Amino acid sequence: MNPVRAVVALGSNLDGPEARVRRAFDEVGALPSTRLVARSALYRTAPVGYLDQPAFVNACALVETSLAPRELLEGLLAIEHRHGRVRDIPNGPRTLDLDIVLYGDLAMHEHGLTLPHPRAHERAFVLAPLLDVWPDAIIPGRGAASSFRGAVRDQAIERLPDTP
Ligand code: ADP
Ligand code: MG
Repeated sequence: MNPVRAVVALGSNLDGPEARVRRAFDEVGALPSTRLVARSALYRTAPVGYLDQPAFVNACALVETSLAPRELLEGLLAIEHRHGRVRDIPNGPRTLDLDIVLYGDLAMHEHGLTLPHPRAHERAFVLAPLLDVWPDAIIPGRGAASSFRGAVRDQAIERLPDTP
C-alpha cells in the first residue's frame, strides 16, 4: 500500500502531560510502517464536557503510514494502554488519548472507527495543532481545516513554549 498522510491527535491531563505527549510523538512515529513527518506545538486547553479535572495538553502528529486505518487505530490504542490509560468517565481525565483525526481523504463510519474524527472541526485544541502540521489540510466532507478557525476562536487555548 502506498503511504498515506494521517494526523493523530494527542491529549493528556494526568501524570506529567507535557513530557508524556512529547514522548508519545516518538512512540507514534515508531509504529510499524509509519514515519513521523511533523510534530505540532503543544497547547494547554481547558477540559470540555467534564470540567472538574486538570487542564489538558494537546498536540497533533503528522505521519506517513502504510498501516490500514484499523491497524493504525490498534497501534494507537496499544500505546494508550502502555501509558496506563483506563476508560471510566467519558471525557474524563486520561494519561494519554490518541485519536486519528485524518487518514488521507478517507471518510468512513464503522463500529469503533469514524474518519475524519467527527469533532475535529469544532475543537480549537485539534484545529490549532492540525494547522501547525498541515496548513492546507482538507477535512473530507467538510472542507479546508483553516476555514473552521473562526468558528472556534472563542475557545481558549494557550500555545506552550517549545523546549529545545
Ligand atoms: P474519546 O477519544 O472520544 O474521548 P476514547 O479515547 O475513549 O474517547 O475512544 C473511544 C473509542 O473511540 C475508541 O475505542 C475507538 O474505537 C473509537 N474511535 C472512533 N473513531 C475514532 C478515531 N477517529 N480515532 C480514535 N478512536 C476512534
Ligand atoms: Mg480517543
